[in-house]
Amino acid sequence: MPKTKPFWNPEIETMPRQDLEALQADMLRDVVDRAYRKSPFYRDLYRKVGITPRDIRSLEDVRKLPFVDKELADRAYPFGMLMCERSELRQVHAATTPSRQILPIWATEADLDRWAERCARILWMVGLRPGEKLQNAFRFGLSTGGFGFHLGAMRMGMTSIPASIGGTDRQIDFLVDLGVEGIAMMPSYGLFLGMRALERGIDLGRESNLRVGLFGAEPTSTRMKTRLAELLGIKAYGEYGMNEFLGPGMACHCPFKKGMHAWGDQFLVECIDPGTGEPVAEGNSGELVWTWLSAEATAAIRFRSHDISRVVWKRCRCGRTHPRVRRISGRTDDALSIGGFVIYPSRLQDVMALFPDVGPFQVILDSVKGLDDFSISVELRKGAEVDERALTDRIRSAVCSYLVCTPSVQVVPAGSLGLSEADPPFRIIDYRRFSGRYGAEE
Ligand SMILES: [Zn+2]
Repeated sequence: MPKTKPFWNPEIETMPRQDLEALQADMLRDVVDRAYRKSPFYRDLYRKVGITPRDIRSLEDVRKLPFVDKELADRAYPFGMLMCERSELRQVHAATTPSRQILPIWATEADLDRWAERCARILWMVGLRPGEKLQNAFRFGLSTGGFGFHLGAMRMGMTSIPASIGGTDRQIDFLVDLGVEGIAMMPSYGLFLGMRALERGIDLGRESNLRVGLFGAEPTSTRMKTRLAELLGIKAYGEYGMNEFLGPGMACHCPFKKGMHAWGDQFLVECIDPGTGEPVAEGNSGELVWTWLSAEATAAIRFRSHDISRVVWKRCRCGRTHPRVRRISGRTDDALSIGGFVIYPSRLQDVMALFPDVGPFQVILDSVKGLDDFSISVELRKGAEVDERALTDRIRSAVCSYLVCTPSVQVVPAGSLGLSEADPPFRIIDYRRFSGRYGAEE
């Protein structure tokens, strides 16, 4: 493919809206039919409301289908959302849920192939080209993190460097010495890495070939992206993905940065009023609801993201026709993003319940050198006689084990947090909201 072409897949990326919606309608019928036949979870769900695949004829008919969210999907554990033979599975990832904390996300070879395709489109869209190098500092593990852009870079003909997160000095050395052109990571880690380079006296803007940064997995503001661009000497692009859909790579900024193009040949994105569930007018603010149209293994149909944004279809100046998701301006639930992980306060409460000697607790989230700082203060119950140091270690390792994030933990005397045992017996203070992480944009 000539390196000067503006699109990786011109036929799909510039497909007229009418054709794209006709394709989406066909795909919606197929995926609902398959979910109904193969997924016990969806069959039960649709039977309860009297819906069969025959009721889904047009794209608008999607509104007949009930929503699914993490709480409901939790009941599908472990195989309820699977809609192919188990022998066809090639990779499994996991999303978090408020109660069970883990929901398997399945992928067949075709799912991995489509994941690679949409990430290749993104890498091309932000200006990277075959023969160049992508240092991928998203986390590699059960969450989908690093894998999408790893597959996409290879598909597009780039060299993938699966650096994952951490080992910051080595990452900086790689960026400079290997002449890396593109980097993908969480914005908070980007700030940390950029500031570490400064501490070492390295000006990445002058001493590296870096020119493109892809940032996702946590909220970002314009101010933060501007800072990243200065620190790393790059153009900063936002990308969007959810573990439930093998994100990242569901949507990304093009060079015009008027919203993130959501790939309509793989996903259907709706924007609804979170209270009534009815669609909002195009361009109005609402909750994003996603349907994974191209999925072969995991059924995810009308899945509520709890992300608040706007969706616009107007053709973009870049020539792409796929709908654009504007900035994520907030959430409709109480999920917290800590170091790129989604954490539910209810789950934290479950972990604390493992310790009968402790009462109410307080969580403080802050931003230190660009990275999330997560600390928990727990009240010791009146009369409890414990080795505080051992208790602190046990709480820290329990939180780490159940929620993946490791907090700093302090044990404080009964009553000192000013919290009652009444519901909820905890308080969350998130100073990051005032530090530019959630600033206004676009
Ligand atoms: Zn565009």
